[in-house]
Amino acid sequence: MIEEEFDAIVIGAGMSGNAAAYTMASHGLKVLQLERGEYPGSKNVQGAIMYANMLEKIIPDFRDDAPLERHLVEQRLWVMDDTSHTGIHHRSDHFNEAKPNRYTIIRAQFDKWFSRKVREAGATVLCETTVTELVRDGRDRVIGVRTDRSGGIIGADVVVLAEGVCGLLGTRAGLRSMPKPETVALAVKEMHFLPEEVIEQRFGLNGDEGCVIEAVGTISHGMAGLGFLYTNKESISLGVGCLVSDFAAAMESPYALLDAFKNHPSIRPLIAGSEVKEYAAHLIPEGGYKAIPQLFGDGWVVVGDAAQLNNAIHREGSNLAMTSGRIAAEAIVQLKRRSHPMTKRNLSLYKIMLDNSFVVKDLRKYKDMPALLHTNSCNFFTTYPQLLSKAAQNFLRVDGTPKIDKEKATTAAFVKARSRWGLVSDAVRLACAWR
Ligand SMILES: Cc1cc2nc3c(=O)[nH]c(=O)nc-3n(C[C@H](O)[C@H](O)[C@H](O)COP(=O)(O)OP(=O)(O)OC[C@H]3O[C@@H](n4cnc5c(N)ncnc54)[C@H](O)[C@@H]3O)c2cc1C
Repeated sequence: MIEEEFDAIVIGAGMSGNAAAYTMASHGLKVLQLERGEYPGSKNVQGAIMYANMLEKIIPDFRDDAPLERHLVEQRLWVMDDTSHTGIHHRSDHFNEAKPNRYTIIRAQFDKWFSRKVREAGATVLCETTVTELVRDGRDRVIGVRTDRSGGIIGADVVVLAEGVCGLLGTRAGLRSMPKPETVALAVKEMHFLPEEVIEQRFGLNGDEGCVIEAVGTISHGMAGLGFLYTNKESISLGVGCLVSDFAAAMESPYALLDAFKNHPSIRPLIAGSEVKEYAAHLIPEGGYKAIPQLFGDGWVVVGDAAQLNNAIHREGSNLAMTSGRIAAEAIVQLKRRSHPMTKRNLSLYKIMLDNSFVVKDLRKYKDMPALLHTNSCNFFTTYPQLLSKAAQNFLRVDGTPKIDKEKATTAAFVKARSRWGLVSDAVRLACAWR
């Protein structure tokens, strides 16, 4: 028996679910959002950089009251070996604009704020409620859900699956397959607390300015992955993530990797004296364009991480989640206004709109990723970082060796490690990835 009917049910109160629920509720739809966590954000893990443009399209004045940590003025990209880092840094006062483009956030606080906005827009939000089943009618159309709260069916014209990367509900219902170990990364992360002024001194920041470091190299022990360090107001988020298949093959422990990253001579001084208060682990979908599953069907759409919409190359996820949630909601609102039923055919509007957005365009651009970097990943994550460090030291040490001999020694070291053909093929591989 159907207990209550809604225009839409949203499963999950992360970035994609909140974007979808807010957009539909603010257009007058009767929306129910169900979240298994104690409160929105309690189950969610992110670095976290939040991209303002995508949130502005949902809540234009979010800066008035959203819990934002620091706006980013500096980005450091490091290639590390065991004792050094070689990097590109970009810092600009242009990022001190009236409406900054990127902020660090703490998801537990941010998701609570976003959820408050969803409620204010008119949606009903129920936490500590796990959706246990998608309910279908005799023609296989999704017509509602069952939860762990009561045995009855909650009905809806459309169900938005915003359940995150594992997406157990959708996979159990046969809407898509489980993500493969080679298409998901496991990231572990710690929060290191330090006084505000210490963070500002260590990173050369003023007021709410922020700095992030992203690092690849021997820190991932030859596996495809990266390390990150993000400055918040009074804490530093620090983590590493690698492909699950790589962890399994190398029998490496994520905790040991994080420990080694924390103790790297380039990182240790930046977190010295900090108090670790939080530890978290989470999966990240990294299969790219080819891993995107069927996005819609009779009575359902899937958004965010559950739809594998994550750009591993640019380390973007929450913005793809917010955008896919918003676009799915806008498609549903359009269908509702025209009194069109939520059939598979009609809901294909969501895919058409998503294909025209940066979400799919960006993922399509790198459609051979992540396979490209994952093949012989030790070249990119071990061999080249070590060679780069040696080349930099060779170049910078003034020891009476003629420069021409230094150049020859560096070239010889690269050729010895990879052969001329190996270097050319790796260069082509990289060029293909970035074309
Ligand atoms: C360590 C780490 C660092 C990251 N850093 C960044 C970053 O800096 N910038 C960035 O843009 N992205 C980053 N990401 C990616 C980003 O966090 C995700 O892309 C984003 O959170 C996806 O949002 P979502 O709403 O799709 O899923 P989630 O945020 O995972 O939300 C899913 C929600 O669904 C709920 N749920 C699941 N199943 C059920 C059920 N059956 N019933 C009810 N509720 C359910 C969960 O409890 C959860 O609240 C990072 C990810 C990780 C792991």
